[in-house]
Amino acid sequence: MATRIVTDGSTERVEHAPRVVLPAGATLFAERAARFEQLARGHALGPYLQLMARVCRAQADLYGARAAPPIAESALAASRAYGMPPLAALTHERDAQWRDDLRGIEAALRPQANEPLAAALERLQRLDDRALEALADRVLAGGAGDEDAEHVPLVGAALQLYFTRRAATLAPADVGNCDVATVCPVCGTRPVASVVRIGGPQANLRYLVCALCSTEWNMVRVKCSACEEEKGVGYLSIEVPDRAPGEAAVRAETCDECKSYLKILYQEKDPMLEPMADDLASLALDVLVDERGYARSGPNFLLHPGSG
Ligand SMILES: [Zn+2]
Ligand SMILES: [Zn+2]
Repeated sequence: MATRIVTDGSTERVEHAPRVVLPAGATLFAERAARFEQLARGHALGPYLQLMARVCRAQADLYGARAAPPIAESALAASRAYGMPPLAALTHERDAQWRDDLRGIEAALRPQANEPLAAALERLQRLDDRALEALADRVLAGGAGDEDAEHVPLVGAALQLYFTRRAATLAPADVGNCDVATVCPVCGTRPVASVVRIGGPQANLRYLVCALCSTEWNMVRVKCSACEEEKGVGYLSIEVPDRAPGEAAVRAETCDECKSYLKILYQEKDPMLEPMADDLASLALDVLVDERGYARSGPNFLLHPGSG
């Protein structure tokens, strides 16, 4: 059982810690790529994690290739005044730039693609702009079907790149007023996981990490990140050799009120943790939690639905 918090003087620290941390840009994708490479070694999903390392490497390389389109002043004003996410993923007018990012990721993967990947890239390349926009809408709304499955990770990666590049142009004051704690204050997307960091102003605090733009926002621990209830929160983890059950670096935070779960990552147990990569590399935990009747509350856009 995790320790209940805010009894150790950390209330004061919460006031000084940033409520919202905007994404770091290209280094974020480079670090994610390195973590995927590390996790891929000897892992049952090794080839898939290796492929995702290459996707993240492409995201890092493409990040600086184009400038982020400016965010409309009206959207910034609505965010500052009412906390409306200025880049609301489902409603904002998507710039065609994300399709250039997608084509860039495809081009980066093509030279080393094995036969199934080469065939999938070929099928993706044949989709016209209209089909791609419809596919992006489905991915963002969580409505991608079986026929979309092979395209989801690459379309998801391109959308991440596009939204992260734009989110990084914001100032914290632009997004500080969002009072809905369960979605990203920048793009309105659900978190991929939450992380308890070590070091710096975020130390020992729990941050939810946006599945799309990687913005992080603070939420107290031992609170359901989907329904905000505190009672009925519990933790499940996979047994790790040489580690007590409560010592796992990746745990599922389950909620008996809304029957959902999201993973929580403890950097003090493993300083190299990266939310997106470690979430994918711990699919066995999703299976375990799923069997207990909890439904996952946030997406991972790099997940190929057939890879679990
Ligand atoms: Zn976001
Ligand atoms: Zn809940």
